[in-house]
Amino acid sequence: MRPLRFDDRAHTRAAILALVCCAAACASSGTVPTLFDTQARIERYISSGEYDKDFAAVVRRARSYLETRAPAVTRPAIVLDIDETSLSNWPAYRVNGWARITTGPCDLERGPCGVRAWQAMAASKALPPTLDLAKRADALGVAVFFITGRPPELREATERNLRQEGYRPAGVVLLPPGATFKSAVDFKAPERRKIAEQGYTIILSMGDQASDLDGGYAEKTFKLPNPVYFLP
Ligand SMILES: [Mg+2]
Repeated sequence: MRPLRFDDRAHTRAAILALVCCAAACASSGTVPTLFDTQARIERYISSGEYDKDFAAVVRRARSYLETRAPAVTRPAIVLDIDETSLSNWPAYRVNGWARITTGPCDLERGPCGVRAWQAMAASKALPPTLDLAKRADALGVAVFFITGRPPELREATERNLRQEGYRPAGVVLLPPGATFKSAVDFKAPERRKIAEQGYTIILSMGDQASDLDGGYAEKTFKLPNPVYFLP
């Protein structure tokens, strides 16, 4: 299998495939749901507050674990993913009918909106449960690290966006220049190892993709919902 670039068209294809296949009706009825129905279902899940509820329930469990473990370990730390974990990009996806379009400009009025152009605008809003978790970590003396698959040229905008929204990162790790990884696991797990090697105890890691979390170097992992896209 050829290596995937984080920014190639495979993501767009994977997102569209996920849109088509994510409806449970796909398996239960044996028919392929229309893209229109799937888009409407995603819109309902997000705009009804169900997504927020599911999201907050995961973060509540993470917070409870944080509070138990923070006083018990040496140099406690947590690791957060950024997109759809710490910051929300739904405006950029909604205008695309929930498709993930990585490259190109972002027209938020009419679409399309390229995700990288949107991220460069530093306009993403904090996901409130995660911001509360990060603030609680700060109060408990727990270092908050961010590891993201965003490309290195987005460092300034990413750090500015996080700070504007109220996060106080101990460190922000982006993809190294020119790097390609078959899976985010191959990048994120070694970055967690580097944090652990600095003497931190990573109590927990939280992300919206399994590939944010797999590969060890965290006591516990917390997987948030993402009804829109899948990243290997
Ligand atoms: Mg994410």
